Amino acid sequence: MEQQIPISPDARADDPQADDARDDGTHEVAPDLAYKRLAIVNVAFYGLPGAGDRQWVLIDAGLPGAAGQIANAASERFGPDARPAAIILTHGHFDHTSALKELSERWDAPVYAHELERPYLDGRAAYPPPDPAVGGGLMPLLSPLYPRGPVNVGGRLQPLPADGSVPFMPGWRWIHTPGHAPGHVSLWRDADRALVVGDAFITTAQESVYAVATQQPELHGPPMYFTPDWQSAKSSVERLAALEPEIALTGHGRAMRGAEMRAALHTLARDFDQVAVPAHGKYVLHPANVERGTAYVPAQKHDPTTAEKLARALGWFSIGLGLTEVLATESLSRYFGMEKSAGLVRFFGIQELTAGAGILSQSRPAPWLWARVGGDALDLAALASACNASNPHRKRAGAALAVVAAITMLDIACAQMLSHEQAASGQSNA
Ligand SMILES: [Zn+2]
Ligand SMILES: [Zn+2]
Repeated sequence: MEQQIPISPDARADDPQADDARDDGTHEVAPDLAYKRLAIVNVAFYGLPGAGDRQWVLIDAGLPGAAGQIANAASERFGPDARPAAIILTHGHFDHTSALKELSERWDAPVYAHELERPYLDGRAAYPPPDPAVGGGLMPLLSPLYPRGPVNVGGRLQPLPADGSVPFMPGWRWIHTPGHAPGHVSLWRDADRALVVGDAFITTAQESVYAVATQQPELHGPPMYFTPDWQSAKSSVERLAALEPEIALTGHGRAMRGAEMRAALHTLARDFDQVAVPAHGKYVLHPANVERGTAYVPAQKHDPTTAEKLARALGWFSIGLGLTEVLATESLSRYFGMEKSAGLVRFFGIQELTAGAGILSQSRPAPWLWARVGGDALDLAALASACNASNPHRKRAGAALAVVAAITMLDIACAQMLSHEQAASGQSNA
């Protein structure tokens, strides 16, 4: 897989031996700065080990179900049941805020974020839809399934101070780094040139399940599928590169340090349009941002119709089938006696994933349902040809043929109902 800006694993910012010796489950990159990796995302801890109650700060708040893990790591590092003085957010995406409500309540802690992230954090708005078409791996195809809000911690939410200071983090200032999100910020400390980046740039190819699993480091633009304004994202990386950071603690991937990281960051800033911006992305030419009034999507309130519910079910079915076809291509082809058509099965899988993602991400999914019908026709043709007398597994192929035929009827019915509903609502809106 081609990396954006390769960087050697030696540039990692933590010291694995010291981390093992300390054994609090965090990676320390400065005496008072550490992070914990939660599957696909990092949370950062500011404060000296053993600092005690209200003497530390949590930066970002991880994945669904991670509250316990974060709280345990905090207890290990800062003292039993030590609560933070505050939770500070680089931005409001779900992978940085899913444990936010639970933790802020448990700790009775204020939450600080940039004013432009507020609508996503007080229940008013959702983020613009992700762009599954950016490519780069499985994560973009699944991205329509990720929650995009709104989160509501309105009662505890405070704006970051206008003077650029960071509450409870003396010597630090926040830097507005929009593009990945309108109110995205990075945190910077002059004294040791430490940068808490958020997702303005990252150090792993977040689009690829494989790269995220192996954590092979590279300097990488913001996660493609969730970045709706590439012009601003580029300016933000330029601004951060100009700081000449010594330590870069990113929202995804390992924290990196030193001259090699800086050089890679400058290369990323210089070549941003070629390496970081997706070749085919719907936001490349048509950004969603505050200037255009497209950054905030009103939180949805309407109850789904039967056709919409059916469409969602079929969308999930597509995702499940697509994943099976992509991840178990060999055994699936063998099962149906279609060994020679493994490439075709994988192609069908990618098609299923695309259609599923399309159905689940669109408020008007009818065209994607029709795309499913087209895919069904291809499936039927492939299975029909596998039903010939020379295939020892033709009975299995025949059974699958019957199932696909039944699902095709459902797809057609659902696509027709949705097209009808959309036409009707289009007339009533006119
Ligand atoms: Zn993000
Ligand atoms: Zn993220």
